[in-house]
Amino acid sequence: MKPSIAVHGGAWDIPDGLVERNIRGCERAAAIGHDVLESGASALDAAVEAVASMEDDPSFNAGVGAVLNQKGRVELDAMVMEGASLKFGAVAAIQYMRNPIRVAKTVLGKSGRSLIIGDGAIAHAEASGFARCRTEDLLVGRELDDYQEFLRTGVMRTRRHFAGEADTVGACAIDCEGHVACATSTGGIPRKHPGRVGDSPLVGCGGYADDRVGAASATGWGEQIMSVVLSKTALDLLAQHTDPMQSSMDALRVLEDRVNGLGGIIMVSNDGRIGLHHNTPRMAFAFVEGPTDRRRAAISIR
Ligand code: ASP
Repeated sequence: MKPSIAVHGGAWDIPDGLVERNIRGCERAAAIGHDVLESGASALDAAVEAVASMEDDPSFNAGVGAVLNQKGRVELDAMVMEGASLKFGAVAAIQYMRNPIRVAKTVLGKSGRSLIIGDGAIAHAEASGFARCRTEDLLVGRELDDYQEFLRTGVMRTRRHFAGEADTVGACAIDCEGHVACATSTGGIPRKHPGRVGDSPLVGCGGYADDRVGAASATGWGEQIMSVVLSKTALDLLAQHTDPMQSSMDALRVLEDRVNGLGGIIMVSNDGRIGLHHNTPRMAFAFVEGPTDRRRAAISIR
């Protein structure tokens, strides 16, 4: 079948000045993932490559461009899942890694572990051949300034809430063989509590993939997304009425109605159709929908 991929660059109030960079970053990620799919590689490889390109892009709050926690550390969360085996790999609160999504993929490949946190995740990454970087290698702009001030003064400048400068990234894909996969990566909420883990690395919350239905990746306020297990909820809805656009909308309605939640979701159905929706002011996304040959990269505005 003709493969499809969708990516998101986060669902928040993206300031006007960053709109273009967010669109271009998503467009590039979808193109990279789509090339991987066209080469005959797996949906898992495509989703990981798409997300890794957004981790490398400082426009987004994942990998390079991530945000600091209250103690001046960058703790990253990431997850991958493949729909054929229902296997997933995830890392949470991992420091010193530029591409936590690649580390998560190696967790998927190991038996006896699916989700590893903190120092254990760093140890796994180093044993798998990933080199440590420094905290400052992950920071840009205002976060880097705040970090340098923190090193000088020992005081972490507070950020009241998400300023919308950068955000979580995610991808979901279906390959030529009809297998689906998802990948999600984030720096989390700015000035989060040390050790706080959001929805992104949690199976069913920040992402889910099942060949029998499709794949999804979520973004938004993690505590609320976890409460409604947003990605699995969206796929359960898709299993009922088979329209990914409708399922995305219905899942966001559950998030809103049940926990007054804010966020967004992208989906691919197991026949290659794309769905996406958000209830935040804006969401950056891009997709290539194989069966219809549709391509789009844009900021969706509510
Ligand atoms: N869901 C992420 C978290 O709560 C943040 C985001 O998507 O913006 O960690």
